[in-house]
Amino acid sequence: MEKISFKNLSRDEALNLKAALEKEYADYVAQGLKLDMSRGKPAPNQLDMSEDLFTVLSKNSDVADVSPDVRNYGGMDGIPEMKALFAEMLGVKTTEVVVGGNASLTMMFDMVSRSVTHGVMGSTPWCKLPEVKFLCPVPGYDRHCGICECFGIKMIPIAMDENGPDMAEVKKYVENDASVKGIWCVPKYSNPSGITYSDDVVRAFAALNPAAEDFRIFWDNAYCVHDLYDESDKLLNILDECRKAGKEDMCYIFASTSKITFPGAGVAVMAMSEANIASNKKVLTYQMIGPDKINQLRHVRYFKNLDGIKAHMKKHAAIMAPKFDMVVDTLDAELSGLDIAKWTKPNGGYFISLDVVVGSAKRVHKLMAEAGVVMTGCGATFPYSNDPEDANLRIAPSYPTVEELAIASKLLCLCVKLAALENILG
Ligand code: PLP
Repeated sequence: MEKISFKNLSRDEALNLKAALEKEYADYVAQGLKLDMSRGKPAPNQLDMSEDLFTVLSKNSDVADVSPDVRNYGGMDGIPEMKALFAEMLGVKTTEVVVGGNASLTMMFDMVSRSVTHGVMGSTPWCKLPEVKFLCPVPGYDRHCGICECFGIKMIPIAMDENGPDMAEVKKYVENDASVKGIWCVPKYSNPSGITYSDDVVRAFAALNPAAEDFRIFWDNAYCVHDLYDESDKLLNILDECRKAGKEDMCYIFASTSKITFPGAGVAVMAMSEANIASNKKVLTYQMIGPDKINQLRHVRYFKNLDGIKAHMKKHAAIMAPKFDMVVDTLDAELSGLDIAKWTKPNGGYFISLDVVVGSAKRVHKLMAEAGVVMTGCGATFPYSNDPEDANLRIAPSYPTVEELAIASKLLCLCVKLAALENILG
């Protein structure tokens, strides 16, 4: 069927189309669907792939050759083997790595918390300042915003395009306002747009001359090995670039194995300059005696090296890619040429971002919910859960089956069209 831009529909054509779509929608509602496209978590068959982690260490003799003893206290920054594996994965030195517990979000929260209570490398603790601000590229990861909300840090949204954040805006704020202390970044396969920061953007980050000495880039590289296809995005190494620019202390890198092995039972890491590590350890040492080193060893024994991680990620990709393809192909087939939506086609990560007609995202969300499909809450990808344009929706294709996604994404396109027509017709 020939596609006509919704902009070119006469009022009668729009009314007729709306009536036809409403009938189609009613058929979906009658099916009593119960689907969920809101959760960015691995599907059960992805978790099954890591089953051997349960048995890779099963008795004392399995850990007898490891020193210091992983069963005991100590090793605040992780076992050397896990530090080496993460250093390889992130392209940093082992001396620049602190391996943590089960969640990188906890490490990010703690980093902000330490800065609030103790400052950064001797700076005034943020809690003693009249105002602290963070830049939040949008759409972004809701839990980054959540950390700021928790500490009363004012959030400033920064627009993003397919190359990353608008660096002119970032520079303007960072270089002129000393109350801007940080920026959240998901630089590879960003949550939710799936884009990867271009080399120019990464270099522009490293070239920043912050007004605040304690400004830090929070580089959440959660999806660093999460390629979907053979052709993968390449991300410049932020620590290397900052070092070249003489500012190696300006960034903190975070990652974890949450979406490599088991979310909630994986291993998290942060990487940063040795000076940053030394400064952080002054507080960390009061917080804990050592992380779960048995789980770290389990992961090392399971993967052996970075090639082991890469081989494992290929198995994830074999499950995930058809799901992403199903959603993107459906969006392409149903919505292209209509001038009512745009969407991303990520090469990795966990999400697809969909922008619909301004003022209609909440309506699409409601239509989907009433037809039995849960989507991520509208606005969740913006500071204070407020999408000023009411246009962005996050699609999480990982958890449903391909068959479920076929139905859910067709329905989604139908709802996007319906909401657009309602909008056009007033
Ligand atoms: N960072 C990003 C960008 C994420 O999307 C997620 C989970 O969805 C996390 C961090 C959470 O990671 P972790 O399980 O290591 O806390």
